[in-house]
Amino acid sequence: MTRRVIDRPVLVLNRDWQPVAVFDVATAVTTVVREMGWALDPETYQLHDFEGWCAAAPPGAAIIPTPSRGVPAPEIIVLKEYGERPARQASFSRQALYRRDDWRCQYCGARAGEDGLTIDHVMPRSRGGPTSWENCVAACGPCNRAKADRTPGEAGMRLRTRPARPRWTPLLRVPRGQVRPSWANFMV
Ligand SMILES: [Zn+2]
Repeated sequence: MTRRVIDRPVLVLNRDWQPVAVFDVATAVTTVVREMGWALDPETYQLHDFEGWCAAAPPGAAIIPTPSRGVPAPEIIVLKEYGERPARQASFSRQALYRRDDWRCQYCGARAGEDGLTIDHVMPRSRGGPTSWENCVAACGPCNRAKADRTPGEAGMRLRTRPARPRWTPLLRVPRGQVRPSWANFMV
């Protein structure tokens, strides 16, 4: 990463440790200095106030050069308050799946509202297919019925995309290039 340390992205979690925003390092450090949030050690999950963070930041942390001392740059912070606490969302949900699939049937491409869509298990449940991001897609009713208890190959149907775990959460969308490795455990 060639960007200046203070401009690098920091993942912001709310009190429930759900990602809600991305700040730059400068804003994130200010938040911690003002005691509005903690810096999170992504290895130990320990929360630190500013002094604690300066004393105990992970050895690999980038350093922000300041006139008085080097301040380690957090990659994740946790806010102490974030308005209303949003309901905890399951990492996998019907709504989230439909959103990942852009509300389109992944077989015929038809766009449907929530009422017109169903969840299709690519490897059928009856044959041990799990309910997971990798094995589920949005499908319209007719396609789901036509496929029945078969794989797409057996049914002569083609998936438009390969199902995968999305890189966003219901609360936050982060452009793919911005996701840092230390964020992985906090992104759905
Ligand atoms: Zn369809």
